[in-house]
Amino acid sequence: MTTIYLKPKKEESLKRFHPWVFSGAIARVVLDAKHQGDAPEEGELVCVRSAANEVLGVGHWQVGSIAVRILAFGVEELPKDFWAERIRAAYQVREAIGLIRPDNNTFRLIHGEGDFLPGLIVDVYADTAVVQAHSVGMHVCRNEIAEALMHEIPQVKNVYYKSDDTLPFKAPIEGEKVGYLLRNTGIPESRDTEEFWSTENGLSFRIDWLRGQKTGFFVDQRENRALVERYAKGKDVLNMFCYTGGFSLYALRGGAKSVDSVDVSQKAIDLVNVNVAKNFPKATNHTAVAADAFEYLTKQKGEGKTYDLIILDPPAFAKHRDAVKNALRGYQRINAKAIEMIRKGGLLFTFSCSQAVDKEAFRLAVFSAAAQVGRKVRILHQLHQPQDHPINIYHPEGEYLKGLVLYVE
Ligand code: SAH
Repeated sequence: MTTIYLKPKKEESLKRFHPWVFSGAIARVVLDAKHQGDAPEEGELVCVRSAANEVLGVGHWQVGSIAVRILAFGVEELPKDFWAERIRAAYQVREAIGLIRPDNNTFRLIHGEGDFLPGLIVDVYADTAVVQAHSVGMHVCRNEIAEALMHEIPQVKNVYYKSDDTLPFKAPIEGEKVGYLLRNTGIPESRDTEEFWSTENGLSFRIDWLRGQKTGFFVDQRENRALVERYAKGKDVLNMFCYTGGFSLYALRGGAKSVDSVDVSQKAIDLVNVNVAKNFPKATNHTAVAADAFEYLTKQKGEGKTYDLIILDPPAFAKHRDAVKNALRGYQRINAKAIEMIRKGGLLFTFSCSQAVDKEAFRLAVFSAAAQVGRKVRILHQLHQPQDHPINIYHPEGEYLKGLVLYVE
């Protein structure tokens, strides 16, 4: 195996279990004898050693500022049953926190660094695991991962791979980035996600991993949706950026007087309607509209419309650090528009899933929005990502979702 030697003192963060080796920390690379080129191949397993030749761990080589993502610390090679062991350990956590129940078969099984598998995401929807690789190393290992999932997770009968949007786009990638890796032979080839339902806290969702965003569903809002359910009774609710209508279904079950779901994507709106019809076939208090958030709020305000509870769950406004300033302006603008439309004593559930925007910056943007509109606002809850999106304590970068529940007077 190729060996990466670090510069003196650069082993310290690895000894504290931070899973990344930055390219600037590397002193020299000693290539495996089999190697033809003059550098490791992207995705190759490499062993990392300190300047004093101590074994630090094994990881995937990457091109870029993060040169290695460590999979196993303190060993020279991956243990034989590595994938099975890691996947089993992740499943045991989900079981221990009560996420695997007859009325809940939707959960995140692997959350990258948070489950000690940097570069890998796996969401489970009933009998199907949807796998997303964020590194070439995980792409190379996709079949081993699929086998381990099928073997270790009792409910998994199919493994679908969906990495077309997540792999580094310049990387030399062999093999398909999208498609079934394993498929239960009992399932017809023609089976489409149109017939596919998954259950979250007793609510049914059609999950479209073939055409949907990310792995097909946003598992990360489960707990925050349950909080909306608690507060929805008798309220006029607006679910802005609704996607498949997660918050809308919980609000309806919580006894909302009316729910308006809005998303710019018509496909999302079609899914919301399907989901509402499945769970609340007699509901007459739900409307779904395909519209741009800013335009919708401006138009509704012009018509004097107000709400008791608004949910704002926009896509990541900042995908990179250099976009943070603009993102903060975006958060301020959209929050100001929403706060203006909340009735006295109403609630705003507002979120940011931009990893690059931290809690304090987001809170400041929302504060600026409240001040701009001149309403008296208090924070009732500070929300975050749920238990199946754990944050590796040595890798705080894994924290990304934050939310505030505001009481608006
Ligand atoms: N709240 C959702 C997830 C939201 S993801 C859930 O619980 O599942 C963000 C959504 O914002 C996507 O569905 C995307 O289509 C939508 N979106 C992006 N830009 C938008 C815009 N300008 N106006 C309205 N919706 C937008």
